[in-house]
Amino acid sequence: MKAALLGKAGGVAIADVPVPVAGPGEIVVSMRACGLCGSDLEKIRGTYTAAPPVIGHEAVGVVADVGEGVEGIRNGARVFPHHHVPCGRCTTCRGGSPTMCAQYRATNLEPGGFAESFRVPRWNVDRGGVLRLPPSVDFERASFIEPLACAIRAVDRARTTPKSALVLGAGPMGLLALQLLRLRGTRALFASEVSPLRAEKARDLGAGIVWDPTNEDVPALAKKETSGLGVDAAVVATGNVRAIAQAVRAVRAGGIVVLLGVPEAGARLDVDPSEFVTREVSMIPSNAATGAETRKALDLIARRKVDVASLVTHRFHLAEFLEAVRVAERAECVKSILTP
Ligand SMILES: [Zn+2]
Ligand SMILES: [Zn+2]
Repeated sequence: MKAALLGKAGGVAIADVPVPVAGPGEIVVSMRACGLCGSDLEKIRGTYTAAPPVIGHEAVGVVADVGEGVEGIRNGARVFPHHHVPCGRCTTCRGGSPTMCAQYRATNLEPGGFAESFRVPRWNVDRGGVLRLPPSVDFERASFIEPLACAIRAVDRARTTPKSALVLGAGPMGLLALQLLRLRGTRALFASEVSPLRAEKARDLGAGIVWDPTNEDVPALAKKETSGLGVDAAVVATGNVRAIAQAVRAVRAGGIVVLLGVPEAGARLDVDPSEFVTREVSMIPSNAATGAETRKALDLIARRKVDVASLVTHRFHLAEFLEAVRVAERAECVKSILTP
């Protein structure tokens, strides 16, 4: 079968690999859709080093093989398998940081989500990492469960319902965060985005004003729109570190900056740290998601509370994976979905 895999020396290639077989406690899923994520692109570029070198984690499909001892999952079931699952018992999990659990990233879809089929490890199956998809949710929409879950966790970690908010970066994650904020009652919603296509999507999905950070002073404009104060919260949904610095200056005194985009490893932030103390600006990072958030995400998608379908601008077959990467690297798309 075909699979898009990372090369040992970086880059990506379509390989012909054996069809996986489910061992005891495992399942094999025949992939029907898998979203291409910004972190996949970073892994292909070799700039994302904090995660295992596996690409494709927004995969959904049909169960094709069920290992010995698996209960409650049958062949033919339509499922979302979460690629990472925490232990729920260690000091880190109990301390409220399950996505930082040492076990969380120890398992993964094998050989990854960009494959005709993939194996889901026993660890993930045993711990409720596999969600059944209701018939009303098609595979393409279901492929947003993982990214939406990450956006939900980010917005939840802010522990506030901002009256005004700025989303920096209107890629798929920014557009999901924007919709979640709107759903929670944020009235004054702003965005900043370089790509005209993505800026237009942000306007469609609820941003009152979208600024172009390449030629507009985003913090100054955010202040101007909020009586000179700054926004209650800013969500940084890009890995660009300049956006983090802009977010710190765009929030009001006491405001919150949520970090959702992963900066390139080794990047440096140019911010005057006195801002954090003298203006009580909080920085809250959010990384990945847990089962609680994937279930919330599936529920929001099923009830059509979040529009995920309109984010899909490109569809590619696995055989066209390299073209999908080229298009995504040029930000000529919002979300690209791979199918077998
Ligand atoms: Zn992702
Ligand atoms: Zn743990």
